[in-house]
Amino acid sequence: MLLDLDDTLYPEREFARGGFRATAALLAERLSRSSNENNSCSPGPCGLESLTRAPELLMNQPTHEGSGYRTDELFESLWKSFERGVRGSIFDTILAELNVPHDDALIAELVRAYRSHEPQLTLFEDADRLLELLWPKYGVGLLTDGPADVQRRKVKSLGLQSRVEAIVYSDDFGREHWKPSPIPYLELLRKMHVDPSHAVYVGDNPKKDFIGARRLGLQTVRIRRPNTEHGHVEPAPGFEADHEITSLDALPDWLAANERSNRHAA
Ligand SMILES: [Mg+2]
Repeated sequence: MLLDLDDTLYPEREFARGGFRATAALLAERLSRSSNENNSCSPGPCGLESLTRAPELLMNQPTHEGSGYRTDELFESLWKSFERGVRGSIFDTILAELNVPHDDALIAELVRAYRSHEPQLTLFEDADRLLELLWPKYGVGLLTDGPADVQRRKVKSLGLQSRVEAIVYSDDFGREHWKPSPIPYLELLRKMHVDPSHAVYVGDNPKKDFIGARRLGLQTVRIRRPNTEHGHVEPAPGFEADHEITSLDALPDWLAANERSNRHAA
């Protein structure tokens, strides 16, 4: 049993919330510093010289060191952008909305703060139950995409090192070997001494979780959860999973039935 991590075992939006909290705190601090140094901040690289023109909604609030911006307001703005579907350029978007001039260095710093925060994550309840049930009847491995240092912090926060047999971070093989590359799947199977034909991959993202796994001969199961990044995504032809569930609680019965039908076929 090979498992995906984000939105399969825990809600990824919780990671995003933590990241935006860290980012908002950093931004409030940077803006405050810039505001305090306003007169000495010449136009150019710092690019924050007009911060005193804070938008109306953020004025007259309790502030972070008097900058006109406070952490919880910045967080709410980031979160609202995320909720309305802004992805990829969210920091540029929010700074533009707040009428804050910014440069690439500030954006890079915010991205670093987002990625490097120490997450405090909790497994989905059904994921917690599944790990309890599967072990030790089935070998359980974890295969996850994303920057390896970020994914390692998530795994640590969730305490998964002691709850699965093996973990593969596809990023360790380079960005080009994120799913659906076969390389990380094969590495996890090798670590677990399992043949692809005896393995199942469970994930949530039809854009990349199943196509590569199926080509290798694994069975695939999609967990489709509401309020997740890919919960409403309909797969392109060929990108479907073999089976779809809405709760990981359905997996043990499906595995048992699957084993029976495989024995029949044999
Ligand atoms: Mg996922």
